[in-house]
Amino acid sequence: MTALVSFDRVFEVLDLEPLIRDREGARRLAEARKAAPAPDDADAPETAPAAPAIEFDHVRFAYPSAEEVSLASLESIARADSAPGREVLHDVHFTARPGQLVALVGPSGAGKSTITHLVSRLYDVSGGAVRIGGVDVRDVTLESLRAEIGVVSQEAHLFHDSIRENMRYARPDATDEEIREALAAAHIGDLVDGMPEGLDTVVGDRGYRLSGGEKQRLALARLLLKAPSVVVLDEATAHLDSESEAAVQRALATALAGRTSLVIAHRLSTVREADQILVIDGGRVVERGRHEELLLRGGLYAELYRTQFARQDDGRDAAGDGVID
Ligand code: ATP
Repeated sequence: MTALVSFDRVFEVLDLEPLIRDREGARRLAEARKAAPAPDDADAPETAPAAPAIEFDHVRFAYPSAEEVSLASLESIARADSAPGREVLHDVHFTARPGQLVALVGPSGAGKSTITHLVSRLYDVSGGAVRIGGVDVRDVTLESLRAEIGVVSQEAHLFHDSIRENMRYARPDATDEEIREALAAAHIGDLVDGMPEGLDTVVGDRGYRLSGGEKQRLALARLLLKAPSVVVLDEATAHLDSESEAAVQRALATALAGRTSLVIAHRLSTVREADQILVIDGGRVVERGRHEELLLRGGLYAELYRTQFARQDDGRDAAGDGVID
């Protein structure tokens, strides 16, 4: 009986209509971008990179309620701390210019992950719009949108399979040479070459154990292989030894170069380098600017810096005022 009940539940899920789907007449993102008016890029360099701007235009958002039967709402029901229907983003407005690195920081539950979910259109906004390269994400096919965006989550997910297949997950037609190039660029090529079976080495839970830093670099190698123009990244919080940390940082710099990136930042080096930091609190952008300006302002960022980032200076910034002693 229990099995039957569970089985019914499976069909219930399979029968659901996804809430997010292509609208009629949706175009591919690349075509729509050609037709879109150029975003306001007065101070962009003459040779603007191919990467598009990401714009949040007065975005409001509430997670779908349980009544809105959908896969998305089932996910939200599964979350213990969730409260579907309640607005969690209020008038979020910002632009990441082509090629910029925008860092999202803020306390837990502030809305940082929710912002990143809206870029890949995992949900639709309740008000306002999200645009990529001047095109509303609701007007393009999901397939073309998601092909353009590289998502790296905190915990790199590896399949119990060879390194080659784990990499091909990002681009099924990639050749071994392309895979090796991406691994080298992510500073993990030598490690893979040194493994007993090279690209055929099986990794994952029951395979070759990779360290946290190696997993992160493999995730970045995957991103390089996919070569998206937009990157959405949730930086890992896991503590790494300083050697792995430096290797991950180099891989990250390569992976983000020339791409428009939105990063939930947990590393001091990332916030220092960000072109723009958005401080999110209670679903709003409460401060914005670069690291130094925000520190001087003495607001929430300065406080977050003292509690989260300053200790990464290994005591070099003992006063927590952003000045390296
Ligand atoms: P953290 O740093 O802890 O990951 P965050 O800043 O990324 O937090 P979000 O995960 O975006 O915050 O959450 C913002 C708000 O939305 C919270 O109040 C959270 O409870 C709510 N929320 C998040 N995901 C869902 C969901 N799937 N369904 C309903 N509510 C959700």
